[in-house]
Amino acid sequence: MAPKEKKRGIDAVLAPKYKKRRGSATGGVRQLQSSQKLKSGHGDASASAPPPPRAPSRLVELLVFEVMWGFVHATVAQRIAEAARVDGLSHPDLEKLAGIGATGMHKQNTWRDLLRMLKPFSILQALGSFRLTIRTPPWGRRKESLACLWPHKLFSVLYHKYGAAFLSRLCGGSLSRISEFWDQMKDHPAYASLPALSNSTLDLRKKGIPISLHGDGVTCIGIGKKTQKHADVISWSSMLSRGTKTQGINFVILLLFTSMLFARGDVDTLSTVWSNIIWSLYWLSLGLHPDRDVNGRMYDESDGELYINRLTLLADGFFAVLWVVRADIDWLKNRLGLKGLCFLCDAGNTFDTPWTDTRQHAKWISTIWNNATHAARFPNRHALFRKLKGCGICLVIPDVLHTKHLGVDAYFCGGILNFLIWFWMPGTLQENLDELWHDIVDVYTQRKTGHRYTLLTLSMIQSQKSPLPKLSGRGAVIKDFLPVLSEVATKYLDLGKAAHRDMLSGLKNSRRLDQILDGCRGQCMLPADLRVEYRSCSFTYCQAITALIWEYHPHVPAFHFTEKAHLLSHMAVLSEYVNPDLGSCYMGEELMAVMRRIVASSGRGSKPVTVCNVSMRKYVRGVGMDLELPYGIWRI
Ligand SMILES: [Zn+2]
Repeated sequence: MAPKEKKRGIDAVLAPKYKKRRGSATGGVRQLQSSQKLKSGHGDASASAPPPPRAPSRLVELLVFEVMWGFVHATVAQRIAEAARVDGLSHPDLEKLAGIGATGMHKQNTWRDLLRMLKPFSILQALGSFRLTIRTPPWGRRKESLACLWPHKLFSVLYHKYGAAFLSRLCGGSLSRISEFWDQMKDHPAYASLPALSNSTLDLRKKGIPISLHGDGVTCIGIGKKTQKHADVISWSSMLSRGTKTQGINFVILLLFTSMLFARGDVDTLSTVWSNIIWSLYWLSLGLHPDRDVNGRMYDESDGELYINRLTLLADGFFAVLWVVRADIDWLKNRLGLKGLCFLCDAGNTFDTPWTDTRQHAKWISTIWNNATHAARFPNRHALFRKLKGCGICLVIPDVLHTKHLGVDAYFCGGILNFLIWFWMPGTLQENLDELWHDIVDVYTQRKTGHRYTLLTLSMIQSQKSPLPKLSGRGAVIKDFLPVLSEVATKYLDLGKAAHRDMLSGLKNSRRLDQILDGCRGQCMLPADLRVEYRSCSFTYCQAITALIWEYHPHVPAFHFTEKAHLLSHMAVLSEYVNPDLGSCYMGEELMAVMRRIVASSGRGSKPVTVCNVSMRKYVRGVGMDLELPYGIWRI
């Protein structure tokens, strides 16, 4: 008789755990007496009692985890397990792993043997595909199948098969967080038009999980070479999740190389991709299994399980609402087709609404789009905003990573360093740079800064690519550089000069903006007093930049006011009803790094579409491994 499988759905997680009572719960008096006999060492059963099962081997779990993500080959894992066994480690799991591929004699069979020994991962049920037209070099086209991890299916699988993960990764650890979230979102301009509010079968406050959609481009193959390939990765995550593992809480929907894009006449690769994503998100927003395919064809008996499951609940009434769209500016413009001088408002359309106005009550604030005005102005907007009910421009939050740290801060820090080295300090360029770097290292050591520059060169401040100074570096490094530069610059600047005070004021306010968001991470709203302070600091920062431009331009071309500074003001305005940190792409960037490694391990001489499909399968196995670990991974 097959052993009964442990319950894994959310019911098992939420069910009250009753404590077993001595006596009645284990049977009657005779059972109690026999158990006491066993404990005291009497009775025949003690001799034949099976040994308690051993805990799973951590080493083997780690090795299989790396294999499933595609970072380590199965033969390497087998050899490590074999070496550990030779060294004297003894564990049943180690024996299993060391034994695959006939103990490594038939290396070509190691992957097959490993898969046979593992339980089938339930998450693979959510992996599907759809047909689309792709470009073939040089100008041809071909129909291919592209792998896709359907959000609505994954949602259902998580609920029914991985209850604990559903609760922690989608609901933030407690179902009460859903109602808390929506209670705080009542002032959001898109809240009143939520379709779930007018649908009597959906309970938004109890079962509507807010999710965000993240899109980004990543260079996967041949980085820095002429043959390098860029891919678009589209993923989603719950806005309630509080996990530390990026790949565990962000779920990739699909991966697509830009070299595959074909657009001519009625055929457009991206349109097909978005139609499929929107179709899945639509059914996810209803909490139902679809009754028709993406082209509107109703399912019939020939569709088997799809027909049987049509219009049944995905997760006992739980559903997901798209509430934030996260991406960098280039992706928003190129992939989601957001248009205009600023895509969030109508600034610059009339002479009295310049987008460079940095006053707290600037006139452009009254021209910020809401879903209705944006729809009226751009009737041919992207399908995501046009076809998915409730989705509109209000869901786009400027990303703090690209807008502030890699944008405004990079220009401002670069400007101050440029001013000090080129125009203010008395020595030669190299002498000034060396002196500054010496001070920066001292402050790094005193402050125990986490993310640091390891060197500073003139080309990192003033490169040939940009006519204006911009500090290069990763977002986290620039973020941690702000207080360091503030301390170092104080030593050299003349506080009697208004412009020099503006530089320090800019750095101080920028640092304060980061502190506010860091302190409110995970919250969907800022507290009332911090909202006022966030807005004030943001506008003061932009005013300092403008004042410096007026003071020095064009004789000292160090400071620069870009569209990102304008978007920083937008973040201040929308902090009234949502935490700007919800639009952060830091997590998404970490996911991109994971996907880059997966694609790099899958792309040896294969066609782009094959690389996409192999990478997605590896990714799904990796996520599946992560989800399966608490339940045991071995089939036998
Ligand atoms: Zn704007």
